[in-house]
Order: sequence, then C-alpha cells, then structure tokens
Amino acid sequence: MTGPFLSLTQVCNRLILTARRVLRDHRPGSDGRCLVCRTWTCAVATIARDVLRIAEEVRRRNTATGPAGPERDDPQRTR
Ligand SMILES: [Zn+2]
Repeated sequence: MTGPFLSLTQVCNRLILTARRVLRDHRPGSDGRCLVCRTWTCAVATIARDVLRIAEEVRRRNTATGPAGPERDDPQRTR
C-alpha cells in the first residue's frame, strides 16, 4: 500500500485523505450524535480534525518553503 520512502508531502496527503474519510463516517446524524459511535462528542472525529489541521499546516509549510535544500541520498536506493 504505502511505500517505505514517502516524502513529507506524500505522508501529509495520506493523513489528510484518511482523516477526511474518518470525518465522513463519523459525522453527526440528524439527532446530532455521531453516526458510528452514537455519542454526542465523538472522540474519533475530534482526533481526525486534529490530524487534518496539523497535516494541512505541515504540508502548507513544506510547500511554502519549496523543495527544501539538497535532497539527502536515499540509503536504500539501488543503481
Ligand atoms: Zn464517531
């Protein structure tokens, strides 16, 4: 699924996609309770929102600074 050598942006993108998926499932129903957990304050959704916020912030900073400096050599790379 996910390769062992992802860039920071790729890791952030995967976290964001996962968090959004979680938030789609753990959304409040018509009664205001989480559709999955059936609680008023869904801990899973709270964590997903935190992950989403942090991952977007890290991605934004990483993108704003551009490709940061010289790339480190990948020790696993083969010719
Ligand atoms: Zn939930």
